[in-house]
Amino acid sequence: MINIDNALNMIYKETKKLGIENKDLLCSINRVLAEDIYSKDNLPPFDKSSKDGYAIKSNDTYSCSKENICELKIKGVIKAGDFIKDTLKNGEAYKIMTGAPIPKGADAVIKIEDVQIKEDKLLVFEQIDENNNIIKFGEEIKIGDLAIKKDSVIRPVEIGALASLGYSNVGVYKAPTVALIITGDELVDITSTIEMGQIRNSNEYSLKALVKSLNAEVLSLGIVSDDKETLKEKIKYGLEKADIVISSGGASVGDYDFVKDILKEIGADIKFSSVAIKPGKPVTFATFKEKLFFALPGNPSSLITTFEKLVKPTIEKIMGKEISNSEEFPVVLKDDFQEEVGREKYVYVEIKKTNGIYYAYKVGSQCSNHLMTMSRANGIIIIPKEFGNVKAGEVFNGKFIFRK
Ligand code: AMP
Ligand code: MG
Repeated sequence: MINIDNALNMIYKETKKLGIENKDLLCSINRVLAEDIYSKDNLPPFDKSSKDGYAIKSNDTYSCSKENICELKIKGVIKAGDFIKDTLKNGEAYKIMTGAPIPKGADAVIKIEDVQIKEDKLLVFEQIDENNNIIKFGEEIKIGDLAIKKDSVIRPVEIGALASLGYSNVGVYKAPTVALIITGDELVDITSTIEMGQIRNSNEYSLKALVKSLNAEVLSLGIVSDDKETLKEKIKYGLEKADIVISSGGASVGDYDFVKDILKEIGADIKFSSVAIKPGKPVTFATFKEKLFFALPGNPSSLITTFEKLVKPTIEKIMGKEISNSEEFPVVLKDDFQEEVGREKYVYVEIKKTNGIYYAYKVGSQCSNHLMTMSRANGIIIIPKEFGNVKAGEVFNGKFIFRK
């Protein structure tokens, strides 16, 4: 049994980027840019109004005040998308909408809220500075400027920024294809009514969601019965087609837990098969040529925990991402928790902040078969391996998971 940091180091040694691919803009979410992005345009491409108001010449307003109200002749309306050829002369104004191009001759916009209208005249009560409420040509970015650096993660804001620059696809680091093999004779489809001895195959859904949330590719190989030869064929097929293979269940020491034996038989290199964490101890990591294999425990909470702790950072690394590690902070236990010495424990709890202090509340049994506890939790408490039973009032590090 090795500790989690050693396990991660052993895995990281086996990971490398998989090259570059071009992705449609929206499909690049959560990926990492493999190229510097330069602007092909000046943004904005013309001086434009940042407010609904009136385009004017600022020097028409130098003597304007509440006592000395100025009158300008309104010549027309410019809405967003219009382009007018007319040149504004002294004494004139154009009504202008947000985003519309500033007409030639105008050098300021006065907000609609600050003026009054008398027939076709605009009444101005104050002096307006040059460039007031104008977004200048090329103010955001100029042609040839570096817009987004290589190795940046593409978040929704980058999708918008790339769209504004006219990029409909971008070069990103390839994500691994992750094959999923779900083992267990007790499993039935989630739409089935469960008979005695059966359970619904929730792990396939958890795994698909976890892989998809990283925007890696899923290759689902479905449920395989606890039959060694069938499973062996599926494992070989997965290793041929995917970069990473994840199996669910059958990885422990039971009579029908064949995954490790199969890995040995096909000549895979088993790096470790037990990690000192709870939930999730019986987790195997192996390599087969360039391919990575994770045999995750079938217990639903163990499966998600081992994915989060071991598989997620692996996928992120391959995709060129910084490993996302949410910050740990001290949390005061509000309940007692019965735990065992010898493994690092991740206790799923509700973390609440009261008067600036974080507290951890029990939300259910920590049995690794219970997904409901995990679903009720918004965080974990990390109890080091030296500790067993812990009591209300004691302080351990915790962090938020999935949600706050
Ligand atoms: P195993 O790791 O195969 O010994 O399975 C451990 C526990 O996890 C058993 O209670 C299984 O019924 C449960 N389990 C295994 N596979 C799944 C699955 N795909 N979905 C939900 N629970 C599962
Ligand atoms: Mg099983």
